[in-house]
Amino acid sequence: MSEKKFKYVNPKPVRFGQATDRISEHSVPLYRCGPHVWNVGGQDDVAVYLLDTGEGLILIDTGYTESVFLVVHNIWKLGFNPENIKKILLTHYHGDHVNGVASLVHISHAEVWLSKEDERMHQLYCRADRHGIHTAPYQVTNFYDDNTPIVLGRFTIETKLTPGHAPGCTSFFFEDTDEETGKTYRCAVHGGLGIAYMRPDMLANQDQTEEAAHRFVKDCLELAERPVDINMPSHLNQADIDNNLPEDLNDYTWFVADYSWHDMLLNRAEAVKRFWPDRYPEYQKN
Ligand SMILES: [Zn+2]
Repeated sequence: MSEKKFKYVNPKPVRFGQATDRISEHSVPLYRCGPHVWNVGGQDDVAVYLLDTGEGLILIDTGYTESVFLVVHNIWKLGFNPENIKKILLTHYHGDHVNGVASLVHISHAEVWLSKEDERMHQLYCRADRHGIHTAPYQVTNFYDDNTPIVLGRFTIETKLTPGHAPGCTSFFFEDTDEETGKTYRCAVHGGLGIAYMRPDMLANQDQTEEAAHRFVKDCLELAERPVDINMPSHLNQADIDNNLPEDLNDYTWFVADYSWHDMLLNRAEAVKRFWPDRYPEYQKN
């Protein structure tokens, strides 16, 4: 048995989001993580997944205003045209995931998708500078409906509301087939695994009640049982990606690891349980 590479590790002491003028210290190369999926984000903090549907491009999250030039550059580098982005799917409304929207919509006129729950938060807080991350203006054009997958070209993307980190965090599930080998991979992006907002004293920060924390735990435990071949974390630390990039950045099979999604979600569920020892007696301190 080889050692498990793609496991949850804590974020770096200084994230790119806290040092956006120091991109050279936080840069991550363009890498392929599925037959038709790449992380074009260019920095070691927030992922920006590009899906080549064959009928236009989809982005999952956009990263920061300060790194959007890397997203554009990486899309060109792959031989695609950023004008061809058709849909931008946002995991949640926080600035580190959405601040590139305005520039990318300016280039592409893409649809911008968010959950209804997070659009409410976006409208409440879009003018506030919260946690040092300003939320740049953007306009949402479409809301997720978890009963209606998003379909474009070769991709059918199932959405699932997974609150906790924010009230409207949305996770994505899709399959991607490699035409050369005929193999199909089940891929997943979890919408938000930062657990600080599920601490008793922090719930109000995201307009949530205790139930959000328990729903998060329940969702993590349930979703962990879904078979996922390629875990595409929304922040790279959630599966220790940037410390474990392949030598051949085009070799997506490096990321095929059936344990990674499961272990990451269990790790996060357990961390939230520790905040609530009355509810989860196994975490009561003796
Ligand atoms: Zn967030």
